[in-house]
Amino acid sequence: MVKDRIEIRCVRCNKLLGKVPEGTIAEIEMKCTKCKTIHTYKINNTEALEAQGN
Ligand SMILES: [Zn+2]
Repeated sequence: MVKDRIEIRCVRCNKLLGKVPEGTIAEIEMKCTKCKTIHTYKINNTEALEAQGN
């Protein structure tokens, strides 16, 4: 079985910075090693994302 993972990609250059398990709820600040962009990623449960209305 392959567990789905959410890819964290740089918002600027699309470099893959990491992966977290699906269902993770977190706020992570990451610095891209390639273009040095610092971005705060808000990771929510994917089901919640699909259902969000606010
Ligand atoms: Zn980048």
